[in-house]
Amino acid sequence: MAQQKAYPHPASAARSANMKSNRRVDTKPELALRRALHALGYRYRKDYRLDLADGVRVRPDIVFTARKVAVFVDGCFWHCCPEHGSQPASNTWYWEPKLRRNVERDRAADAALGGAGWTVVRFWEHESIDAAVAGVVQVLAGRRAPARRAAADQAAKPI
Ligand SMILES: [Zn+2]
Repeated sequence: MAQQKAYPHPASAARSANMKSNRRVDTKPELALRRALHALGYRYRKDYRLDLADGVRVRPDIVFTARKVAVFVDGCFWHCCPEHGSQPASNTWYWEPKLRRNVERDRAADAALGGAGWTVVRFWEHESIDAAVAGVVQVLAGRRAPARRAAADQAAKPI
């Protein structure tokens, strides 16, 4: 698992700063959610592109292929969270349409996934990992896959 590689003792301040930034990347909420699910024994795909009807392509953060469950962890800013998604006050000509397009793309992805028989689960990045894990586990429990395909979820690449 790439995220678990051991780091050597830092040889310089620059190296140390680089390692710190790596660690910051590793604390992204979708990674934390993946790790928690993996620790519970769930297997899933990441960076798994789904080609859907009408040319809609989506790359959910976590994909359970056998159960057809797609999980997204949406950034509060980029996906316009109602609590933290305030629009920038400057350069509104740039940000307003850009952020609106993100939300439109999210809804189009939801519709295309739903139309193809997928269950979509979305969390905001501000939500607790525990709540997100519980939500995913609950959805998976309600999506019983055929035995042979459920085995595929077990065989999928970890984190
Ligand atoms: Zn938020």
